[in-house]
Amino acid sequence: MNAFTWVEVTTAEQAVAQLSAARGGSALLKAGGIDVLDRLKEGLDAPERLIVLRRPTAGSKSTLSEISEIPASRLPDSITRLLPAGNAGDAPQPRDCLRIGALVTLAQIASHPTILRALPALAQAAHAIATPQIRAVATIAGNLLQRPRCWYFRSADFHCRKKGGDECFALDGENEYHAIFDNRTCAAVHPSGAAVALLVLDAIVEIQTASGTRQQRLSAFFVSASQQGGDVKRENRLEPGEVITHLYIPLPSPDERSLYLKSKQKQSFDWPLCEVAISVRRAPSGAGSLLQAARIVVGGVAPIPWRAKAAEAALLRLSKLDIESVRAIAQAASDGARPLAKNGYKVPLCQGVVAQAVMQILSNA
Ligand SMILES: Cc1cc2nc3c(=O)[nH]c(=O)nc-3n(C[C@H](O)[C@H](O)[C@H](O)COP(=O)(O)OP(=O)(O)OC[C@H]3O[C@@H](n4cnc5c(N)ncnc54)[C@H](O)[C@@H]3O)c2cc1C
Ligand code: SF4
Repeated sequence: MNAFTWVEVTTAEQAVAQLSAARGGSALLKAGGIDVLDRLKEGLDAPERLIVLRRPTAGSKSTLSEISEIPASRLPDSITRLLPAGNAGDAPQPRDCLRIGALVTLAQIASHPTILRALPALAQAAHAIATPQIRAVATIAGNLLQRPRCWYFRSADFHCRKKGGDECFALDGENEYHAIFDNRTCAAVHPSGAAVALLVLDAIVEIQTASGTRQQRLSAFFVSASQQGGDVKRENRLEPGEVITHLYIPLPSPDERSLYLKSKQKQSFDWPLCEVAISVRRAPSGAGSLLQAARIVVGGVAPIPWRAKAAEAALLRLSKLDIESVRAIAQAASDGARPLAKNGYKVPLCQGVVAQAVMQILSNA
């Protein structure tokens, strides 16, 4: 590990100023440090300066480490215009939102009363990540921005495409934990469980830039190589020197439900083989179909949290819950999958996890 200077900041503006003062990528931001410390030890990053974004000391308040409910009337316009459209599909609906600061830990999210009640998919995803010790320090922004776990990427012995090389060692190598969708240039799966849940809940990310703030739907934030002309070196649209400040999540109406499920190799802490978050809104009685809105996001199967759109469409056509219909939805969840030599098992696994999520959410909806 190289020697570096330790710089502490407590605001996003200070962090941006420190990152841009460094110029040329020789500074790295640290939040909880779980991923950053691994990357320093693995030689993936060798910054001259580590910019440590800390919670402010006791007595001073910062929205970066807070979870708060923001009524629709107090939401900034920049957020309101990105909220989901209403039933007519033509205009964003003003909605009360939950605002989560970038430094809020996964443990805080997993035990927060409003999240447990109104956004269970997020509480369940946060609770399923790593160990209690890690969840106590890992932050929500750090979780979204952690780098992939592909073992070739994490090994100093392999200069793969993601590190600027011209080869993907996983494509013809040890690819049992790799992607089954969108995997032809880089087959690393997106590592964030929180991202899977936040996407299903239609979250908006707020970002501090050198000239102010910008906001973006999380659904457009993560990118794969195929979405950016073959560039595999980044996993999201955060520009160098920018810092995530908050996430805004629209609070659901009483007829909406969500849940999250994770399948992993061992029962104690582990990254997922496959994980799924689902949200549904019941249709009014007599509507013909059971649901008027449905969203399914699968993790552990693609370089981005993967929206299972064909399965969503099949779910929306559902008029009664029976085994045949659930099987058809599950089959649709793997539409477009192209497994590699050693990860074919992920196709039925993805179908099974989606089927389980559909059955569970519809039995409780
Ligand atoms: C044994 C183990 C099991 C794990 N299992 C899982 C799992 O099942 N699911 C899962 O999702 N994760 C899992 N993880 C990963 C872990 O959850 C993440 O490493 C952690 O959440 C990262 O958060 P952090 O605050 O420590 O981020 P850091 O390590 O501090 O930062 C991570 C990245 O985010 C950037 N960053 C952080 N905050 C900001 C910000 N506000 N703005 C801009 N950039 C920022 C940093 O520069 C860095 O690039 C596991 C980790 C371990 C060690
Ligand atoms: S899957 Fe991606 S990260 Fe892994 S070796 Fe291939 S290019 Fe590198």
